[in-house]
Amino acid sequence: LLSPSGAVAPTIFAEMSELATRTGAVNLGQGFPDVDGPEHLKEAAIAAIRDGHNQYPPGPGIPQLREAVAAHQARHYGLSVDPDTEVLVTAGATEAIAATILALTGPGDEVVTLEPYYDSYAASIAMAGATHRTIALRPGPDGFHLDPDDVRVAFTDRTRLVLVNTPHNPTGTVLTTAELTLLAEQAAARDAVIVTDEVYEHLTYDGVRHVPLATLPAAAGRTLTISSAGKTFSFTGWKVGWVHGPAELVTAVRTVKQFLTYVASGPFQHAVATALTDEDGQTGEYVAGLQASLQSRRDLLTGALDAAGFATVRAAGTYFVVADAAPLGFTDAVDLCRRLPELAGVVGIPVSAFCAAGSPTAQALGSWVRFTYVKQESVLERAAEGLTRLR
Ligand code: PMP
Ligand code: GLN
Repeated sequence: LLSPSGAVAPTIFAEMSELATRTGAVNLGQGFPDVDGPEHLKEAAIAAIRDGHNQYPPGPGIPQLREAVAAHQARHYGLSVDPDTEVLVTAGATEAIAATILALTGPGDEVVTLEPYYDSYAASIAMAGATHRTIALRPGPDGFHLDPDDVRVAFTDRTRLVLVNTPHNPTGTVLTTAELTLLAEQAAARDAVIVTDEVYEHLTYDGVRHVPLATLPAAAGRTLTISSAGKTFSFTGWKVGWVHGPAELVTAVRTVKQFLTYVASGPFQHAVATALTDEDGQTGEYVAGLQASLQSRRDLLTGALDAAGFATVRAAGTYFVVADAAPLGFTDAVDLCRRLPELAGVVGIPVSAFCAAGSPTAQALGSWVRFTYVKQESVLERAAEGLTRLR
């Protein structure tokens, strides 16, 4: 009944969280914080409810939030964004991704993404009836990289859209300016729209800087940038996201969005507007603290995986680290992930779940597992202890 390609199927996150619940294993599968974001933002949401912001918000999003998004992009990246015509608030980044793909692509169009990719990409492309082409991220001694030849081959005269994700889920890669430039130049050469999913924009480590695609000259005038409050402020359940870019593209996305959710998260939009405008206050302090603590939690989990015998690639950003189980003698990560609760009391997600079924990348990364470290240190320590049993 679902799409013949299998791209629209029950999400792996639900399956793996259910496995964790059933077995009592530490859930390092689905990436969500086990501690809420700051109290003062909860209070802002409560105040918004008390103040009567409980009916449908405006279709494009409340003006305060659109202005806050525009100001954020100017402050951090020097981008000039018109809050009235170039910003659309969505039900999380997920809706922004779906509405964008549905608005801009259809049968006969090709959409290029990196592979592995966040699972909703393939599902949205399938729902649009478009064709999915991928560029492999390949592991090397200094992290995952794109091969320029793969990039050139992925683009064709049918390419309508390229959907990039940096910092990258699942690999933790922060794409370099050179890699982003190559993607933008290819898109420009094909007159394709660039969509960039930057939900982890503030979660980079070791001084690595996130470069927004929209800041590159080749990307100018053709780029839709997507982000969300979920990761930055640790309120993944609030589902407040946004997309910004050229007015005519945003208008097209808004037209589709009307018929997906119409609007969403009214009171939370107010709280997120507060969060985005409070960079010099408690919120800025919170985000800086989150980033620092995630860096040290990344180190804790990566160290534990290394000690257990995995080969890891140090994540430069996101909530995630990927680890190759081949040195431990496990060649099939899907099978390993099903047994990991029993073997080590831990749940992870096979990296192949972020790949097209049976693709060369799925095979190349067939022994790799993604683990999240956005969990309390005590939880990660319990996982670390369990992982020692694998040796
Ligand atoms: N894109 C990526 C790369 C993600 O990791 C996530 C969250 N898991 C999303 C989009 C979805 O974000 P939201 O919860 O705001 O819909
Ligand atoms: N983005 C989170 C992850 O990659 C989870 C999102 C979801 O469950 N849909 O783990």
